[in-house]
Amino acid sequence: MYYGLSQAQLDLQARAAELATSTIAPQAADVDRNEQYPWDNVTALREAGFMGMTIPTQYGGAGLSFFDATLMIEEMAKVCGVTGRIAVEANMGAISAVMHYGSEEQRQLGADFVLGGDKPAICITEPEAGSAASEMTTRADKRGNQYILNGKKHWITGGGVSRFHLIFARVFDESGNELGIGGFIAIRDEDAGLEIGAREPTMGLRGIPETEILFNDLVIAENRVLMPPSGFRRGFGDLMNAYNAQRVGAGTVALGLAAGAYERGRNYLLEREQFGRPIAEFQGLQWMLADMSTQLEAARLMIYSAARSRGANDSPFPDANAAAQAKLFASEMAIKVTNDALQLFGAKGYSRNAPLERIVRDARMFTIGGGTAQILRTVIAARLLDRKFPQTRDGYTKLGKSVEAKKANLKAV
Ligand code: FAD
Repeated sequence: MYYGLSQAQLDLQARAAELATSTIAPQAADVDRNEQYPWDNVTALREAGFMGMTIPTQYGGAGLSFFDATLMIEEMAKVCGVTGRIAVEANMGAISAVMHYGSEEQRQLGADFVLGGDKPAICITEPEAGSAASEMTTRADKRGNQYILNGKKHWITGGGVSRFHLIFARVFDESGNELGIGGFIAIRDEDAGLEIGAREPTMGLRGIPETEILFNDLVIAENRVLMPPSGFRRGFGDLMNAYNAQRVGAGTVALGLAAGAYERGRNYLLEREQFGRPIAEFQGLQWMLADMSTQLEAARLMIYSAARSRGANDSPFPDANAAAQAKLFASEMAIKVTNDALQLFGAKGYSRNAPLERIVRDARMFTIGGGTAQILRTVIAARLLDRKFPQTRDGYTKLGKSVEAKKANLKAV
C-alpha cells in the first residue's frame, strides 16, 4: 500500500520499529502480568525523543506532526499496547490542548513534564457523566484570583503515575453563576486536594492504572486555567476539539495491536503443519488472512488521513469527523482482526503463555474509551446531516441546562 511517507518519516518509522522490537517487546508480557507501569519503557521512549515529539521546538520538543507521532505509536502498539497508549498521551490529548490553548508559562510547564517522562492525565469522565460528558458536576468556584475545585472523576488513565493533570470542571463565578466548562492544570504531589482513589481491575492494558481522582478543595491559581479561545461558555467544545488528536492516537494503538496480531498469525500459518502440510495451504485460512490484511490497510489509510487532516479548515487539530471515523473503524477492526489472529493459533492462541490472548484483551478497550463506538457514530451522523441531534430527553443541548436538576446536588464551597 502506498502511504506517501517522506524519507524522514520512513527513517522515523524504522527507528521506532527497532526500539519496539529490541526494548519494548521483551517487557510486554511482564507489564501485563505484573500490572506495573513500565517506567523503563518510558525512559526508552524519552531517550529516543518520542515523549513530546509533537511539542514545538521552542519548548524543547521535536516539533513533529501528529502524523509523525502516529507512525511511532503504531510501532510501539504492535508489540505493547500499554506503551502505545503512553506514547499517545505524551504527544496528543492533554498536552496538545495545552500547547495550543495554553499561555507561554503553561506550555513550558507541560513541555517540561512530558519531556521529563510524564504522561499527562486528562480528567473528564465522572461516575454520572460518561458519554454525557458535558453533564459533569465537578465544579470550580472562583474565589479572588483562584478557583476551588470539588468533585470526582473516574477511569482516569495514569491515575497515580501521572503528575500533570488537565481537569475539566464546571465553572462558577463569585456570585454562583455558571459560566461554562473550563480546563484546569494541577500537579499531583504539589497541589493539595488532588487525591488518587481506587484503581479499576481492568480486562486489558493492565500496565497502566485507571483510577478515580478526587478533588477536595483543590486550589488552582488563575494562571493555571486553560482558557479556551471562545471562553468558558463554549469551552467544552474547544477543549474537546483538542481531543480529536487523542482519538486518532487511540485508533492508532488499536491499529498497531491488530497489525502485531496479524503479523504473528501470518507467520504461524507458514510454520504450523497439520495434515502433513503448512496450514497456510488451506484456502479457508488464506481468505481469513486476506480479509484481515484488507481491513488493516483500510484502517491504516483512515488513521493516516485523519492524522494528516490537521490544518484542514485552519484547524490546529485533526478534523473531528475524520478522527471519529478513523477511531470507530480501527477500533472495531482491531477487535475482529486480533480475534481472528487468535483463532489461527488454535489452542495456542488461548494460552496465557502466548501473546494473543493479551492482545485480544488489550484491543477490546478501544470501542469504549475516548468516545464509545455508539457516540462516535452520533458524531459522524451529525456531520453527515449537518445537524446535532439532542441526546437528552428534554431536548436541551445548551450547556448547563440539561444538568439543571442535578445542580441542587452540586457541592457548593
Ligand atoms: P455510558 O455513557 O454509561 O454508556 C453505556 C452504553 O450506552 C455504551 O455502550 C454507550 O455507547 C451507550 N450510549 C450512551 N449514550 C448513548 C447515546 N446517546 N446513543 C447511543 N448509545 C449511547 N475518561 C477520562 O476522562 N480520562 C481518561 O483518561 C479515560 N481513560 C479511559 C480508559 C479506559 C481503559 C476506559 C475503558 C475508559 C476511559 N475513560 C476516560 C472513560 C471513557 O471516556 C468513558 O468510559 C466513555 O466516555 C463512556 O462512558 P461510560 O463508560 O460511562 O459509558
